Amino acid sequence: MTTLWAGQALTGAGWAENVRVTLDASGRIAAVEPGMPRAADHVVDILLPAPANAHSHAFQRAMAGLTERRGPNPRDTFWTWRELMFRFLDRLTPDHVEAIAALVQMEMLEAGYATNVEFHYLHHRPGGRPYDDPAEMAGRIAAAAARTGIGLTLLPVHYQFGGCDRRPLGPGQVRFGTDRDGFARLHAASAAVLKALPDDCRIGVAPHSLRAVAPEAIADLVALAPDGPVHMHLAEQVAEVEEVRAALGARPVAWVLDHVGPDRRFTFIHCTQMEPAETEALARSGAVAGLCPMTESSLGDGIFDGVRWLDAGGRIAVGSDSNIRIALAEELRTLEYSQRLRDRSRAA
Ligand SMILES: [Zn+2]
Repeated sequence: MTTLWAGQALTGAGWAENVRVTLDASGRIAAVEPGMPRAADHVVDILLPAPANAHSHAFQRAMAGLTERRGPNPRDTFWTWRELMFRFLDRLTPDHVEAIAALVQMEMLEAGYATNVEFHYLHHRPGGRPYDDPAEMAGRIAAAAARTGIGLTLLPVHYQFGGCDRRPLGPGQVRFGTDRDGFARLHAASAAVLKALPDDCRIGVAPHSLRAVAPEAIADLVALAPDGPVHMHLAEQVAEVEEVRAALGARPVAWVLDHVGPDRRFTFIHCTQMEPAETEALARSGAVAGLCPMTESSLGDGIFDGVRWLDAGGRIAVGSDSNIRIALAEELRTLEYSQRLRDRSRAA
């Protein structure tokens, strides 16, 4: 048993004073009791529940900074950043991936996050040939979590096409690619590696995006993790919205609302490109908006319509995505400040 005492703590029932939190031998919270005397193993002024870091691609931490210098392109964009990301990841070995993931997870713990939700798509060898164990790379993420002690929700990513027109994967994408049967095997193998972690570590599933997955396959993918969370990149870039509209006849959010039936199990990453009616309808569905304000700023994605989303009862989560910087308070401040800058308002 370990006890914490806080002058103020944010509990499931709201703010409370003089709170004692008791942890059992496994580290789980056994009791939360307000109005207790100031005596415990650890005494603090303010105690907050540590949130999940809802979206991460760990390996991108090791390229942070490489794209911050103006290159030969007349205009650097998300798409020029992505070119360098593809070149970078082509060099990574399983040992690299495990070492980077451990660093990232340690930095997440230092920043105040309790769980790493890893949107994991770097599956195969350079050139695209699978490792002998299809979950080799997933196993490395899990091994890092075993070492750092962070909670892990692993989201194996299905990534099949190079674009909405179902073009083949480009050279930078072949390490991600699986067909549907291959992905089902990879997912099962990934679930097996998680068994070595504490039992609150979870597996979910992640159709990468409407660009990279056959839209009609999404229902089957969701069924692979019947009790787990489902995450998908949704509407990050204007060019992406236009590509989806040309291929499917609807903007990504509108298409998902009509064809996927989102609910509380779903987290949609980067809801930066939404019309007001889309924002309100998706918020009401119960799905979470997975926001990555520092990465979205770094990549010039746009500004999430957060005031409208929250007014419509929407739920949000925050993730560090490209891991260009891992800092929870800065992530939240960037979100808030983006709203103020857009609306010329305060305390948005
Ligand atoms: Zn992402």
